[in-house]
Amino acid sequence: MVQRKATYRLYPTAAQLAALEHQRWVHCLLWNEALAERRRAWGERQESLRFSAQCKQLTEWRGQSKLLRGLNAQSEQVTLKRLDLAFQHFFRRVKSGEKPGFPRFKPLHRFKGWGYKSHGDGWRLVTNERMQHGTLRLSGVGPVAIRGKPRTPGTPKTCEIIRRGHQWYASITLECSPERSRGEQIGGLDWGVETFATVATPAGTETIENPCHLDRTLSEIRRVQRNISRKEEAAKKASGKTRRFPVSNRLRKEYERLRRLHRKVANQRNDFLHQTTARLVGQFGVLGLEGLNIRNMTASGGQRKKGLNRRILDAAGGAFHQRLRYKAEEAGAWAMEAPTRQIKPSQTCHACGRQEKKALSQRRHECPCGASCSRDENAARVLMAWAEQQLSGREPAEAWRAVRPDHLPDDPARPVKRETHAIA
Ligand SMILES: [Zn+2]
Repeated sequence: MVQRKATYRLYPTAAQLAALEHQRWVHCLLWNEALAERRRAWGERQESLRFSAQCKQLTEWRGQSKLLRGLNAQSEQVTLKRLDLAFQHFFRRVKSGEKPGFPRFKPLHRFKGWGYKSHGDGWRLVTNERMQHGTLRLSGVGPVAIRGKPRTPGTPKTCEIIRRGHQWYASITLECSPERSRGEQIGGLDWGVETFATVATPAGTETIENPCHLDRTLSEIRRVQRNISRKEEAAKKASGKTRRFPVSNRLRKEYERLRRLHRKVANQRNDFLHQTTARLVGQFGVLGLEGLNIRNMTASGGQRKKGLNRRILDAAGGAFHQRLRYKAEEAGAWAMEAPTRQIKPSQTCHACGRQEKKALSQRRHECPCGASCSRDENAARVLMAWAEQQLSGREPAEAWRAVRPDHLPDDPARPVKRETHAIA
């Protein structure tokens, strides 16, 4: 059993929208009040309030306040839990010698939403067997029309209600057991600069292109950004201010448009990553990957790495590996990350193993041994050869132990496992 998140968009009626806004406002009040209480307890008695103490207090508050009584009690505990997590995070960072900001009071416009702990208590998801679209029943709001579907259906566990811009979403955690089968091939995958990735197989290499709809959205983003900076320049000139200049309605609309486009890119990229990783796991049993060094990828890298395209795709690297890893695990396949600094995929010849430094601008691999192919293809072949080497003469399980990413020599590259937003 694994936990997955599915996001549904909410389509509330006008009355439901008002009810959602009301609940958000009450949760925001509760957050600020509970935070004030913690500060008071510390200031007056040097006592640090715990989550359980605040829950008890909440019961009292609910007795006194009609506003609080009007909302689902568990969802209010979730807001207290989030505050508790913010404090735990704060103390953890203080302990490790950082200088974190104290958990803050939140104005309503910075308060995004609230959550529920268990299905059936304050919320119920009503959909068909594929869990596509349907209704979300929220206490105090009623049945809200929703659209969306999970990649793998499952049992709803927790729910978060989120407002983003003018839109409302429900992010629902599902417990599911995905069925996935792995392919039989062995291969190597290298990140490209012009293309998304190059995949080497014993039969030859193939390239995975960046999806063209993503490119279209990116060029639209560039266009809107140009519009915005032109309008901003004009507004600065007209008002004589470089900061806090008056924002016209038109400019405000452009900002909203830009936000929408960024969201669109994120969705498109997400879909693309899911589809691509699922396809790769369906094709390969063993796949050699370059250990990612995200820091190196973004810190430097000359002109060709600077574009918006590149930035967004770099950010995709960690997400791609993470998805590939868990999908491979589900299918019983191996996605293995090579220790890049030892293997040097782009500087090693796939045919003879000779190493030679290549400038980033050098797009071809030409070796005295006669090997001649594109730079990306060579790197993918080196990674495939490495993966093969890891397996040869060993039981797969043993080979896997030897190359498990957490056993690799201290490599900042391995993507960190991301925790899902915890609601206890
Ligand atoms: Zn060679």
